Amino acid sequence: MQPIPILVLFSGGQDSTTCLFWAKKQFSTVEAVFFHYEQRHKIEYLSAINIIKQENMHLHELHVPAFKEIGGTAMIDEITIETGADNIPNTFVPGRNIVFLTLAASLAYKRNIHDIVIGVNDSDYSGYPDCRHDFISSIQESLSRGLDYEIRIHTPLQSMNKAGIWALSDELGVIDTVIKYSHTCYLGDHHTLNPWGYGCGTCPACLLRKNGFEAYRSLK
Ligand code: ZN
Repeated sequence: MQPIPILVLFSGGQDSTTCLFWAKKQFSTVEAVFFHYEQRHKIEYLSAINIIKQENMHLHELHVPAFKEIGGTAMIDEITIETGADNIPNTFVPGRNIVFLTLAASLAYKRNIHDIVIGVNDSDYSGYPDCRHDFISSIQESLSRGLDYEIRIHTPLQSMNKAGIWALSDELGVIDTVIKYSHTCYLGDHHTLNPWGYGCGTCPACLLRKNGFEAYRSLK
């Protein structure tokens, strides 16, 4: 294990939860940061807090109210989830990962941390341009230059689809934790425990999670 600390961008969802446990296997100290950006569902935060408590970790919390002020995204406003003519769902918050990675780098700088992990992937991604590899390598360079401090952004899920992410959580021995405690549903439904976890089972986020789980199970 490398004697190096790492900062995880942690939302309490499947992908960042898997990254958190990946980080715990690879790095000596793991810190996590949660962003409050006026997202519609408090359940994300409750899931994040719950996992952090179980792991005896400290959660940094940063507030980003500007996306609510800008408006027009289904992640924040009570509007129906739709996919636009550009094939990008209106759950896209333009610039979200740019802002989050910048704030994470600022926190990392102050904490003497050079390594950051984010759970983006470009295989099952919903068309979000700020989840792609070329964006990540470009912002890594910009942040390192702008801070004059090396920032290394790790994306262990980058080339994985959801089935691969389930396989990784199984490999890490935390698939049951991910099923029971992480939360992905766009509608915030947390009442029914499905084999793949809590969620409505019909929104785009649940479908990715559910289909990926079933694909992984059928491969086993
Ligand atoms: Zn759902």
